[in-house]
Order: sequence, then C-alpha cells, then structure tokens
Amino acid sequence: MKAVVANKLNEYAVVNVDLDPPKAGEVMIKMKATGVCHSDLSVINGTIPSPFPVVLGHEGAGIVEQVGEGVTHVKPGDHVCISFIPNCGTCYFCEHQEPYLCSGAKQDGNLFDGTTRVHKDGQRIFVMSFVGIMAEYAVVPSSCVIAIDKSIDFKAAALVGCGVTTGVGAVIRTAQVEPGSTVAVFGCGGVGLNVIQGARIAGAKQIIAVDLSAEKMEMAKTFGATHVVDPKADFVKQIQALTNGIGVDYAFDVVGYSKVIEQCFKCTRRNGTSVLVGVGRLDDRFSLNAAILPFTAKTIKGCFYGSANFKVDFPMYLDLYRAGKLELDRLVTKTYDLADAPQAFEDLEKGVNMRGVIVHG
Ligand SMILES: [Zn+2]
Ligand SMILES: [Zn+2]
Repeated sequence: MKAVVANKLNEYAVVNVDLDPPKAGEVMIKMKATGVCHSDLSVINGTIPSPFPVVLGHEGAGIVEQVGEGVTHVKPGDHVCISFIPNCGTCYFCEHQEPYLCSGAKQDGNLFDGTTRVHKDGQRIFVMSFVGIMAEYAVVPSSCVIAIDKSIDFKAAALVGCGVTTGVGAVIRTAQVEPGSTVAVFGCGGVGLNVIQGARIAGAKQIIAVDLSAEKMEMAKTFGATHVVDPKADFVKQIQALTNGIGVDYAFDVVGYSKVIEQCFKCTRRNGTSVLVGVGRLDDRFSLNAAILPFTAKTIKGCFYGSANFKVDFPMYLDLYRAGKLELDRLVTKTYDLADAPQAFEDLEKGVNMRGVIVHG
C-alpha cells in the first residue's frame, strides 16, 4: 500500500510499504479521509520529536477492514473516527477522567506492544502518534477508534480527529467559557477558527479575532468573531479598548510563540485566563515577573487535545455538525489524492487552506 513516510528530518515521500494484519486489541482501517495538519509538518521539521522512518498522519476517518482478537466495540464495515491519543481505560489519567493524557503506552512511534505493523524491505516503519494514517490502510490500537454514523461525511469526521477537538475543546472543555464571556483568539488558522466557533457555541458575547492577516480575520468573522483588530497597531491596546480597559475574560494563543503568549497574558483581565493551544519550539521561552500572577490573580492554562474524552466528545462534535451549529464543510478548502501529499504540505506551509484533506479512493 501507499503511505506518506518521513525518512529523516525534512525529507518525506509517498512510498509503497507493507502492512501486517492487526494483532490482539488492534484494528485495520481502510482510510477515507486524512487531514493535513501542522503537527505532521512539525514531525517532518523536528519541532515534534519522532523516530524515523515514520508514517505521518494523525487526523482521519475511515472504514474498519479487519479487527484483531478481543476487539468487540467495532466490526468490519463500521465507519470510524480516529483519535491520535488512545483511551486505554486503565492508566492513572484514564481512570481520572483525563483520557487526553492517557499514558497507557509510550509515545515512541509504536503501538502498545512496542512494535508497528508497517515495514519495508525488512525495516520497521514507525507510526505517528499510535496511528500513522496518511496511508491507504492503517493498523491502530482499538482504543483509538470510535464508530460514527454512516451518514457523516468522512472529511468532516477527519477534522474532528484533531483540529476541531483541539479548537472547540479548548473553549468548552479546557477553559469552560461561560455564556456572556469576552474572548480573544490569537491566530485564525484552521484550529483558531475552531476556537472562534467554540466561543460562539459557548455563548461568548464578544469574540475578538487577532491575526497578522486581515484576510484571515475577515474569514474569522464568518465563523463567529464579533470584532477584529488592526494588524498594524498594538494588539493589546486595541483589545483593552474594546473591553473598556478591563481586558478579556479568556485569551487563546493558537500560534505557539512566546511573544504572542505574552500578549495573550497582557490582554486578559485580572482573574482572567490565558489558554495555550499552539505548540511552540522547545527553545522558545516566555517570561513573567515573579509578582504578577499573585497580584493579578490570572491563570495560564495549557490545552492538550481540547481536554477531550474522545468517546464522548467526538459524537458530541458530530452532533453539533449535523445540527448546523458547528461548521466543518467550509473548513475543508481543498482536497488532494494521497499521491499529491507533497503539494498538500507545500500549501500548508504557504497557509493557503483553512484545512487541506487527503481523500482516499
Ligand atoms: Zn493535528
Ligand atoms: Zn489511559
């Protein structure tokens, strides 16, 4: 089968690989749609450390082809949405209702048994984040999949696997934004637009979109932003002015850059919350003076995978989609064949799509 494999830093290609059948507790999926996400690019360029060679792809949906021994919650023919974090059910975090932090297996490019099912010429190929689904087929832990209604478009379901769950979840799960809140969102790309629609769904009264691109902020308005800023002027001053000098209740950093995080912190009100969604570089640091947190009673919170319990949240997001409250179709601005993955990554780097999605034949 064909798969998009990163062979080493900054080098990847669409190649033919071999795939073994699922072992106990695993599922083979015929992929139907795979989102092209910045995290895939971060594996290629080393921002997210990974062993090589590795099959990319972590946001997707498909059809169960085969199940391994002991798998009972899905069967061949089921349509499934894939979570790139398993829900093992037995680790400390799963038992404490925080499965997005599941530590049931090491994040080392393998499945739970320390091997993968993908190989080429006798060499093991690792899989990104337990799944590696930028491929025609994938064998993944059964604790990474949930069956979905067969009427749901695979592209929409794919987006729920990463960008939607991260963005909307940052608002309704991580921050738990209350109706009537004021919100600022720094970064209006694919995930940022989901933060904006999450804030709209949560009933925020003021949603301020912040980006260096006026075009992206205009797009943000169509997803629920009530205000945009002038990209050439001081963001913090403008946000203060829009909130009567108080600052916003919640500010979201969807960029992952120290200077933006500092702006987020500055534009929140006293006792307000900054939520860090964007993943920055390991060597980038932000600084705060040692008195500011107690004096301002502010909170800084990290958001990983939208604080999701995917077994509950994926169906909820798909219900919101079917009810017309969550816009997913409009986020998919371009589709690609698997063979055109290099073009998809080029477009991702240029920022031309809200979301590019690989559609499998
Ligand atoms: Zn992603
Ligand atoms: Zn677990």
